[in-house]
Amino acid sequence: MCQELSVSLIVDAMSSFGALELNVRALGIDTVVASSNKCLERAPGVGFAIIREAMLRNCAAHAPSLSLDLCYQSRGFAHNNKWRFTPPTHVLAALHQALIEHESEGGVAGRGAHYRQNMDFMLEGMRKLGFRPLLPGSLQAPIIMTLHMPTDPAFNFDLFYNRLAALGFVIYPGKLTLANSFRIGCIGRLGEAEMSGALAAISATLSEMSVNLTHAEESRAA
Ligand SMILES: *Cc1c(COP(=O)(O)O)cnc(C)c1O
Repeated sequence: MCQELSVSLIVDAMSSFGALELNVRALGIDTVVASSNKCLERAPGVGFAIIREAMLRNCAAHAPSLSLDLCYQSRGFAHNNKWRFTPPTHVLAALHQALIEHESEGGVAGRGAHYRQNMDFMLEGMRKLGFRPLLPGSLQAPIIMTLHMPTDPAFNFDLFYNRLAALGFVIYPGKLTLANSFRIGCIGRLGEAEMSGALAAISATLSEMSVNLTHAEESRAA
């Protein structure tokens, strides 16, 4: 559609970069932006853009920011391979190491498969506890799961969030979509041990609140 309308396509791939394949040629993408701190699993502090060269050249002198002028920074790299201003050296060193680990763990496919395992394990456990996913399986990406907010009046999301945090499991703090829902991230250096720990904490928290969602599921089915 962007090509038909002759407009640029800039993709914010923050939450998927490194774990989901993104074919910029096939999708006609002009620019992809992402950062160090999600699926690349490293310290926050550096973002990057992958930009069609012709587009970058056409952007000269358009940036409203001196230090974030990507066109001039790119020319600087070409000219003397240096940053124009002091870069976050420690963050970049960590990102460099993260890319080595990413590669050795199977690259995009390996990382995506790892997150998919986390997601499948967690979703299965959440279903058993009586939660219902917002999206059908075919639309649920292996990054962040979205679940319907339970309608049981004894379920209090703020309490749920705070109790889980106290037990060492921090989920997304609030709802994002129009639907009454909440989210749990499945990315990062987490595996089955952490996911089953989270499920145990969620189960314990539901019991504390005297919420039994499996009953609700049964009555809904009936
Ligand atoms: C996380 C995220 C952001 C924000 O990233 P920060 O590192 O918090 O600045 C922006 N866009 C998308 C799609 C994201 O998932």
